[in-house]
This record gives sequence, structure tokens and C-alpha cells, in this order.
Amino acid sequence: MTLVIVRNATYDSNTLRPVIFGMMEAMGGEKIGGGSRVLIKPNLLSPALPRQAVLTHPAVVRAVVEYCNERGARPLVADSPAMGSFDLILRMSGIRDALRGLDCECRPFQNSVRVDIGEPFGAIEIAEDAVRADVIVNLPKLKTHSQMLLTLAVKNLFGCVVGYRKPEWHMRAGVDRQAFARLIARIGMTLRPAFNIIDGVLALEGQGPGMSGVPRELGVLLAGRDPFALDRTVCRMVGLDPERLPVLKAAREMDFPAPGEEIDGSLPEIRDFRLPRLSSLIYGPKFLHGFIRRQLLQRPVCDPALCRMCGECWKICPARAITPEAKPLHFDYDRCIRCFCCLEVCPFGALRTTETLTGRIVRSAAALILPPGTTR
Ligand code: SF4
Ligand code: SF4
Repeated sequence: MTLVIVRNATYDSNTLRPVIFGMMEAMGGEKIGGGSRVLIKPNLLSPALPRQAVLTHPAVVRAVVEYCNERGARPLVADSPAMGSFDLILRMSGIRDALRGLDCECRPFQNSVRVDIGEPFGAIEIAEDAVRADVIVNLPKLKTHSQMLLTLAVKNLFGCVVGYRKPEWHMRAGVDRQAFARLIARIGMTLRPAFNIIDGVLALEGQGPGMSGVPRELGVLLAGRDPFALDRTVCRMVGLDPERLPVLKAAREMDFPAPGEEIDGSLPEIRDFRLPRLSSLIYGPKFLHGFIRRQLLQRPVCDPALCRMCGECWKICPARAITPEAKPLHFDYDRCIRCFCCLEVCPFGALRTTETLTGRIVRSAAALILPPGTTR
């Protein structure tokens, strides 16, 4: 499995276009034939500017659409944003302007169809556009993620679960991060896009994946036919043991094939890449889970100085744990399932996680007796 890695990349269209074209060729561009339906799936989480590094850069999206146009294919740029209108996202992200004049449809996912993704989840609803596409071109952003550590090629495909079904799945997967990781890995394995390009030219570190993260210029583009292999490579690049990425750990536990990677280009070594703080995992017998959730798990809190009462958090909350319109924002922590969807969607970076005193004490004690990594 050959991965193409380009260093010192920029978003300048004159230099980016041949780079992206070369990557598409290397991944088997001949599969994109005249008239074929190509789904281009960027990360369009929420309204954000290119310099905020939350979304796939418009220049990358444009270059892929141009490639599809040259091959006579029918490209569709689509995603299922966590918040905000699709139109606003297209405008703020610069994608609407970037695609002007190209032959390309651009809209949110609408219908979903039931697809069996395997045990233990069975049939779940996935965007019809993804299921019916002849080819999927997966265009994730290289970002940190306060629930899943990093969001890369495999996690980007979770966007193919349409709209409000996403928080529903967060809820069903509960506070068990590995259960959620298994779900994401199963979706990735089911869709298995043959074209994946990770936009790490301007990446996001710290408390991603939304506005609480910090943009960082890495100048890297990575492409490959296997999203799992790409994610492993990114982990190595930022100095993270791939086994610590919940999605990759889940894939290994489920015995997904993991062909060795050959790298065309050289892998940069990114030092001091700032990973997010993660919420604690639930331990112990079931009858203690209520107590553990209330007392030991991190919880969302709001900085009233940053909150503008826009309502995105209470609209997306699957547990109805945020009182609408209450100022300052009020959370019902007995209801809250710690899915952290609210952190993901807050456009003003007003939400963060915090830990109770009991949680801090238990975590400190656990750090003394458990192997490194167990409490994160
Ligand atoms: S916390 Fe964020 S998402 Fe929620 S109301 Fe305030 S600004 Fe909006
Ligand atoms: S308050 Fe936030 S973390 Fe809690 S359930 Fe609602 S969206 Fe999830």
C-alpha cells in the first residue's frame, strides 16, 4: 500500500493543483471514468473561515473537483454538518467561491439508506449519496478531537451519518469511547473510500475539532487508498502511538486487515503536536456508573464571557441536558451523557470540559498505579 506524502505544501492553486492531480493518479485515477458519480466528502463541520483550520481548505476541494471534471465525471461535494446552514458553511469556508465556474453539485446529504456495517451495530442509516457513489474521495482535515484524540481519514467518514442521527449515535455508543470508536471504524470499513487526501497544510492542534483548537501550519498533504493506513501514518508523524488512537485500536481489535505502508516521499517529524485533554473513561460495575458519570467524568462548562447565546449547543444536545435560553447556560449533569457534541458545535469556543474534585483526586491516584495512557 503506497502512501504519497508531500511536504512544504501550500494552498496556492498553481502549485497545489499538480500536487493533487498527481495524488489522484497515484491512487488509481483511472477508476474515475466519464459519467461516474464521485462523492467528494470534505470536513464541513460548521461555519468557519479557512484560517481557523476547522474545515478542509477550499483550494484542496477545488483541485479535486477540477480533476473529476477533467475526467468527465459527475462530482458531488457533500457533507452533513454538525451545525449551521450548509449555505453559510460554503460561504464562510470559501468553498462556494472556489467552486465557481466548475461543473459540480454541492449540497448537504439528505436521504439515508440502511446498511449493515457488521457486529455489534447491524444495519445503520448512512447517506445515500455515499452508498450509491461509484467513487468516494475522502478529504479530511488533520485535526485534534477532544473525544477521539484526532479526527483524520476514518473519523471524517462519520459525517456520512446524516444530520441529527449523529448525536443519536453518540448517545447510543454512550460514554464508552471504544464503543464509539468501533462504530466509526465499522463505518470506515464499510465505505472504504479508494481516494483519501488529508489536508494537513494548516492543521488544528489543542482542543479541536472546533473553534477551541489552535491552527498550526504543518505544510503536509497525505494521500492513500486506505484510510486506516493513512491515519496510522499521521499518528507516527505527530509522535503518537497508533494504538492510542481509539479508532485504530478498534480496527485492530476487530481484525481489520492492516497492510504495510510504503511511503512515496518522506514522513516529516512533527514535534510537540498538542493533543487534546480527553474525558475519563467509565470504569467499574454497572450499578456504579451513575455515580461515576456524575462524579468522575469530565463535564461540559461554559465561559459566560464568550457565550453569545446562539443556541447551537442546546439544539444539538441529544440528552436535552442544556436549558434553552437560560443565562448563564445551565447544564443538567444527571442527564448529560458526556458526548461533547456541544463542544464540537459551539461557534465561539465558549465550551470546554472540566473535572470534579472527586474526578481529579481519582485520576491522580489512578495515574500513580495504572500504566501510562490508561486514564486518558
Ligand atoms: S455555549 Fe456556544 S453554542 Fe452554546 S449558546 Fe453559548 S455560544 Fe452558543
Ligand atoms: S450537554 Fe453537551 S456533553 Fe452533555 S449530553 Fe448535551 S451535548 Fe452531550
